[in-house]
Amino acid sequence: MASSDADGHTPTATPAQGDLFQKCRAYQEWFDSQLELLGFYPFFAAIQEVRGTTAVIDGRDLLMIGSNNYLGLSWDPRVKEAAIAAVKRYGTSCSGSRYLNGTLTLHEELEADLADFVGRPAALCFTTGYQTNLGAISALLGKHDHVFSDRFNHASVMDGIFHASGRRLGTIKVHRYAHNSAEDLDRSLRSAPADAGKLVVTDGVFSMEGDIVRLDEVAEVARRHGARIYLDEAHAIGVIGATGRGTEEHFGRPLSDLIMCTFSKSFGSLGGFVAGDREVVNYIKHEGRPLIFSASMPPANLAAAAAALKIMREEPEHAQRLQRISARMIREYKAVGFDVDLAETAIVPLIIGDDHLTFRFWRALFEAGIYANPVVTPGVPPGRALIRTSYMAIHTDEELDRVLEITAAVGRRLGII
Ligand code: PMP
Repeated sequence: MASSDADGHTPTATPAQGDLFQKCRAYQEWFDSQLELLGFYPFFAAIQEVRGTTAVIDGRDLLMIGSNNYLGLSWDPRVKEAAIAAVKRYGTSCSGSRYLNGTLTLHEELEADLADFVGRPAALCFTTGYQTNLGAISALLGKHDHVFSDRFNHASVMDGIFHASGRRLGTIKVHRYAHNSAEDLDRSLRSAPADAGKLVVTDGVFSMEGDIVRLDEVAEVARRHGARIYLDEAHAIGVIGATGRGTEEHFGRPLSDLIMCTFSKSFGSLGGFVAGDREVVNYIKHEGRPLIFSASMPPANLAAAAAALKIMREEPEHAQRLQRISARMIREYKAVGFDVDLAETAIVPLIIGDDHLTFRFWRALFEAGIYANPVVTPGVPPGRALIRTSYMAIHTDEELDRVLEITAAVGRRLGII
């Protein structure tokens, strides 16, 4: 029931017939028919109240297993207090772009801390993770450059590439290689002229499948072809690596040229950053349109991200707990017969296949007091619909027992396992 995929395919795409809004009416008809068929609407559910791992919807307490708040830090009193103090000191908005009146010392301090955290000379914050990908990727790709993107990369990566393509009048050559396949990447890189500028873009942890990029292999191939590597760590920092520092820590060494991450997940805030060599970050700072033409990250989000970063540095035990409970969930889902496919992190998809069966499964969980996310076409390829479950370090063992018990009971009742 999503409107369109990354390529802009709408289920109801019809000719305009003289009125631009005709497509909206056609979409509404299709939407209403789907709603009638289903009898409920699984998206945009409004949460009335949050209490740690509990979300209140329609007056009912639901156990949240659909959040990217991996370390539970958006609920940590230290993070909340930091945000409140920043509002008191700086107000609620920066009311302008970084370029002009919208830079606070908080931006610069956070950038210096982040650069140090990821072991790079410089970092730059954007207002959202989405804008970070849009701004950094579209700034870096110049006319006639080649970009290589894993087929399972997040939509914001693809939108960064489309944005660059539009800016450079279609001269950028876009290659999408098979998921996590260094062989296919190698093949694509070989097809590009040796002297072309080349950027390989990959997620560190893939957002729907919950698997980890084979960064050592990808990096080896990229280096061999003189390509630069851009690593999206949205679901990796705070989640993988011995102390939760992400994909490079997982592999034990630096393997990328640029690291990007959002603050909306492990950092319990909103915003994003890109880190790398000083002149590259400075170039993105002056060429990234979402940074120049949009208002900067507000004080509360900056202070929350900074407080979360401090906790992530000083208390690796949260990431370590997350890794233990994720491994337990994967193991126990598999034991009762769920297909979790490639899962190896805190994102554990339960592959259902059929869209409607996935919605029924989602609804049954909802009625039993569990909130998870249904993902259907075009979010995933046809026949690959899934329930995306994700875990937080603050989930208690008893809560996880309940999740396992309910998902197994519902899975059996619907003939999924
Ligand atoms: N990259 C990845 C891999 C993501 O999953 C997301 C969001 N789900 C983003 C970037 C965008 O981040 P944000 O939601 O913070 O804008």
